[in-house]
Amino acid sequence: EQATEDIRRSLDSMEEKSAQLHIANREAMESNRLKSQFLANISHEVRTPLNAILGYTKTLQKDIKDPQHRLYVNTIEQSTNSLLAVIGDILDFSKIEAGKLSLESNHFNLKTLIDDVYQTLSINLLNKEKHIDLVPEFGLDVPEWFIGDSTRIRQILTNLIGNAIKFTHQGSVRTRVAIATENDQDITLSFQIIDTGIGIAENKIHRLFKPFSQVDTSTTRQFGGTGLGLVITKKLVEQMNGKIEISSDPSIGSTFRFTITLKKSTKTQSDKTSLGL
Ligand code: ADP
Repeated sequence: EQATEDIRRSLDSMEEKSAQLHIANREAMESNRLKSQFLANISHEVRTPLNAILGYTKTLQKDIKDPQHRLYVNTIEQSTNSLLAVIGDILDFSKIEAGKLSLESNHFNLKTLIDDVYQTLSINLLNKEKHIDLVPEFGLDVPEWFIGDSTRIRQILTNLIGNAIKFTHQGSVRTRVAIATENDQDITLSFQIIDTGIGIAENKIHRLFKPFSQVDTSTTRQFGGTGLGLVITKKLVEQMNGKIEISSDPSIGSTFRFTITLKKSTKTQSDKTSLGL
């Protein structure tokens, strides 16, 4: 009799606990949804005035004669762009969390895109005392034109090549593009971004794709960054049916390898008229 009573009581208590867990789970999901919504709203609210600052800064730049003033206004422009990049990362992250990050599709020239990413990033190098060779290596058999989300592919490459430049003092940053597999319609490309930088200790590599994690918190102040770049990069690569992996050795540097699958384009090299970017 007593035993039956005990079992009944413990069953009741288990049921109650399971109901509590269910409620807690629902509340956690709801609070996660609110957090993503909040991040998205805040990002939007911050982006609008930042774009206004950027717009007027560009207007001011046209008429400045005084070199000192030019320096100030250029600094305002750079800082505004950095803030916009941070806000962009937060917005992308909140979209990923909410499962709302979707890809576009357009014709683009990959070779031009990579050259352009290098060109843009090399401007940042000019005012730093760093000697790095920036070497894009585009495989001869790789076609130039593809169909895919060129803005997001640019973002992946800017993140990885940007990091490679950020964490390298001297040597080189190479980007190798090759064909991994192909069929009639699709082509899987493999990319390697190889730097001769400070590298990442083996026991810290697993943290890289965790949100907000920076391998060494002392580098946060030195190099800046949100710690979201690689999380977003990995998600984008996966959305393009690819994978990303890292090998790194602090005495040699780091190599980030990733694949993405793109649709083949019928455009040829001579189709220069089309806007591929
Ligand atoms: P952040 O915006 O802070 O750079 P990321 O997600 O892009 O965020 O990178 C996370 C961390 O991974 C960096 O802060 C850095 O510690 C490390 N890291 C990324 N790429 C490299 C690299 N090429 N060489 C050395 N460390 C790197």
